[in-house]
Amino acid sequence: MNKRDKIRFFSQLFFLIVSLTLLVLLILGFLGVSHSYCPFASVCFGILGLSPAVSVWLFKTAAIVGILIAFSTVFWGRKFCGYICFLGTLQEFIYNLNCSRKKYCRKLSYKTHLILRVLKYLVLIFTAVTAFLALQYLYMKFCPVYALAHPQNISLAAVFTLIVIFVLGVWVERFWCRYLCPYAALMNLFQYMGKLLGIKRQKIRRNIEASVNCKTCSNYCPMGIKIECKEEISNINCIHCGRCVRKCLKDNFSKEQCLYRD
Ligand code: SF4
Ligand code: SF4
Repeated sequence: MNKRDKIRFFSQLFFLIVSLTLLVLLILGFLGVSHSYCPFASVCFGILGLSPAVSVWLFKTAAIVGILIAFSTVFWGRKFCGYICFLGTLQEFIYNLNCSRKKYCRKLSYKTHLILRVLKYLVLIFTAVTAFLALQYLYMKFCPVYALAHPQNISLAAVFTLIVIFVLGVWVERFWCRYLCPYAALMNLFQYMGKLLGIKRQKIRRNIEASVNCKTCSNYCPMGIKIECKEEISNINCIHCGRCVRKCLKDNFSKEQCLYRD
């Protein structure tokens, strides 16, 4: 484990413990403010979360923090997904239970992967429309964070979401993150806007000339990104986990080159 991997590991572990502790506290009703800390509030409520009609200030704080995190991806990419989000961490752990001893465990074809990737934008549109029409509680029926925080009120839709996360995720790493997470779609939109405005964003770069085209980097990527043919990883779905660096057989991602802005 190099220094970056250690930072990522301890960051994920810290936020997983904090998130699970908060969830347990919420389940036990100690805080009485329900799922108000949820980082996805900006997605559930959109700007409606900031309206005076929504009285719980924690919702507003969560909505603002959610938007700020999404905005930060314009400059630093989706580090939130690679270092902080407990749902992503949980999915990594679940997948590793099944696949850690195998070379890699991706079963979907690349074409299917590309088609499924569009779904998260549809979920975001659906969420944004329901928020705009003040029907925002509709998304909460599917929300995995709400379901984990309120097991007593769990809906059929939430059971479906949890099955997707914790069952499909056993075979396809980060299934929810790759294909369905509306917050991922929001972060990608921010990155895309940054790209249009010509703002420089942190990315991973490789020495393409040293590559032996073994595809190890792509096979291990938790987000299913095709890396072997790229000199720089500008894909907005990259979560900066650095696994492609760690797994490279030729060590052709030099550590100095690992992150740069362009
Ligand atoms: S894609 Fe969504 S669920 Fe996955 S790590 Fe990112 S914010 Fe969390
Ligand atoms: S491209 Fe590399 S750093 Fe980005 S998600 Fe894939 S393995 Fe992680």
